[in-house]
Amino acid sequence: MKVTEHIEKAKGETLFSLEILPPLKGQSMKDIITNLDPLMGFNPAFVDVTYHREEVVYDELPNGLLQKRNIRKRPSTVAISTAIQHRYNVDAVPHLLAGGFNKDETENALIEMDFLGIESVLALRGDAAHGETYFKALKDGHEYAEGVVKQIDDLNNGKYLDDKMENAHATNFCIGVAGYPEKHMESPNIETDLEYLKAKVNAGADYIVTQMFFDNKKFFDFVDSCRKKGINIPIIPGIKPLSTKSQLRLLPHRFSLDIPCDLKREVDKCKDNKEVRQLGVEWAIEQSKELKVAGVPTLHYYTMGKSDNIQKIAKAIF
Ligand code: FAD
Repeated sequence: MKVTEHIEKAKGETLFSLEILPPLKGQSMKDIITNLDPLMGFNPAFVDVTYHREEVVYDELPNGLLQKRNIRKRPSTVAISTAIQHRYNVDAVPHLLAGGFNKDETENALIEMDFLGIESVLALRGDAAHGETYFKALKDGHEYAEGVVKQIDDLNNGKYLDDKMENAHATNFCIGVAGYPEKHMESPNIETDLEYLKAKVNAGADYIVTQMFFDNKKFFDFVDSCRKKGINIPIIPGIKPLSTKSQLRLLPHRFSLDIPCDLKREVDKCKDNKEVRQLGVEWAIEQSKELKVAGVPTLHYYTMGKSDNIQKIAKAIF
């Protein structure tokens, strides 16, 4: 079932969903299974699988010169998505990036997903490549997520890149996009960011999943602003339980978001990361309770590959 069909079927009940990372190259499915198995008892409506673009590494040669090499540390987003659908009979939502893909590769990836029975896709631009300050699209790639959304929408209307194709199969993907309650880090202001979010919706997006936030007011204000702009599709809050002290600096730096004073003070009191992890669980439970009362369609948790904390939250909420 599509993400939007899950939401419609729930008739106002808040669903549980999560995001996982594909394993690092060289590892097996074991870790994913160990972390997902205990969460299946909470009946997630869908499981998102992130996409990781290639990274550039430099190997030092015996003559002292550096040799550039491209590696993909977490391959197989589509394969993991299919494996999850097969093993758990739960809908998987692969992420699809503009970064690192040209339009032809995007089309082929979508054809593959369609054949594999994937019904929803999260369309993203992706970040700048490792070692670059700003995002650069590939030649004949999309510059923004909006282009990816448009391409999926075209495919949903049977329109392939080769415009000479006739009677081509129309896919039927449900399209998700990212939204930023505290604005995207590169955006000059929240208003401009919302304009571009609206452009993604106009291009065919069916639902929005937000970046993490630690103050629910930011989410509620964001939803209000979206509605005022005429963005009327479901908005799913993304929740990440804090798990290390270093995230106090890392998350604001990396994602341009605020950590509330109260949370920062409590983290300072923790003597180690074990205590921070427990505090992160408690904070996320409080966030989740309030969001659920407010009637959000889904509580979507970022697992970052480990699920012990998400299990505790799910137990308290669902
Ligand atoms: P866009 O919507 O394209 O926006 C990027 C920036 O460009 C914004 O500042 C926006 O305001 C601006 N913009 C948009 N359209 C235009 C336009 N037409 N003209 C000028 N400016 C414009 N990253 C990964 O690598 N893999 C993942 O699996 C992944 N999953 C994610 C899941 C969620 C829920 C979220 C919130 C983020 C995820 N990311 C992932 C991170 C994401 O790729 C980055 O945040 C990226 O920098 C922006 O992606 P986007 O799709 O929001 O881009």
